[in-house]
Amino acid sequence: MALAGLGSYSTHQLGPALRQTSHCRLTGVITGDRAKGKKWATDYGFPEKNIFSYDTMAQLAGNPDIDVVYVVTPNGLHAEHTIAAAKSGKHVICEKPMANTVAECDAMIGACKAAGVRLMIGYRLHYEPNTVELKRLARDKDFGAFMRLDGANGFRMRSPKSAGNWRADKKLAGGGPLMDMGVYVVQAMCMAKVEAAPATITARFGPITRPEIFSEIEESVAWEAEFPDGAKATGLATYAENVSRFRVESENGWAQLGPPAFYYDTPVLTTSRGSVKYPRVHQQAAQLDGMALELLTGQPSRASGEMGRRDLAIIEAVYSAAKNGQRTPVNAG
Ligand code: NAD
Repeated sequence: MALAGLGSYSTHQLGPALRQTSHCRLTGVITGDRAKGKKWATDYGFPEKNIFSYDTMAQLAGNPDIDVVYVVTPNGLHAEHTIAAAKSGKHVICEKPMANTVAECDAMIGACKAAGVRLMIGYRLHYEPNTVELKRLARDKDFGAFMRLDGANGFRMRSPKSAGNWRADKKLAGGGPLMDMGVYVVQAMCMAKVEAAPATITARFGPITRPEIFSEIEESVAWEAEFPDGAKATGLATYAENVSRFRVESENGWAQLGPPAFYYDTPVLTTSRGSVKYPRVHQQAAQLDGMALELLTGQPSRASGEMGRRDLAIIEAVYSAAKNGQRTPVNAG
């Protein structure tokens, strides 16, 4: 596997995870900084011929050491890098959010289909045991259908675009905390509804308290979603505070992840029947091994490109509802 983009997430999470995995390992990198690539080659023990730049991704085609490219660049570059990897004949794991727009998601899915390669999204929680158990509870209806859902995710962002923070740059980030952190809430809500998408959304942007950072993107956004079966959800995505919670309720019980629900710590699941202790896993190692096994055995992906596209459709509906103040249909089909 090759990592494309050697920033914070690759350096501190995915690289170390790839030292623990049993079914995949790091065999190359794609980076704009060749000296950094050489350091990774030494640290992870792969040959320097497996260092590529974004401009030479087409040459991945002739490289038998790399089966999968994991795209870990800023959101606004996911489409370009995913399509380049697919054209070189490699399977792709693309970080969340899948892209800036649904239109980009369609192009990515199309490119992977045309090349006959898999497209997966870096939704690590689909491989985390507590979250997997919440999915099971929803699917098997142990408590009946969950009809009230609430989630929030965010952190206090401190640096402006001028300090090199691409998350404050609309073009590279696609939007604000909804793209970066809210996508986890969107994901969890759909998990709790057995992967159904909401039918309609209402939403509003929160106040901009630090205009020096939030000149291009929202500082926070809150939304309400209604699902086809009448279930109602409230969500919040924010760069104003550290928050990470998720709770669902039904006629016969409730379940809650964390807090924190979405960070790298184990999101302990508590339900109205008590809590069960699941073994702590390294989330990224579990995800990488899980995805490698799906590829090796031909099983469907838990976190597919189509799922990433659905989430962008929901995100686009939240933005449009917040802008127009209207109840907005979700076109996730
Ligand atoms: P980062 O800024 O630390 O790293 C981004 C990398 O992309 C850098 O190495 C940078 O050099 C490279 N890059 C290539 N072209 C660039 C350009 N034109 N402008 C800026 N950088 C460019 O960011 P990160 O925190 O590692 O996030 C990368 C991706 O991973 C994002 O999509 C983010 O949402 C995702 N992410 C996911 C998780 C998760 O838990 N799944 C956690 C963190 C980040």
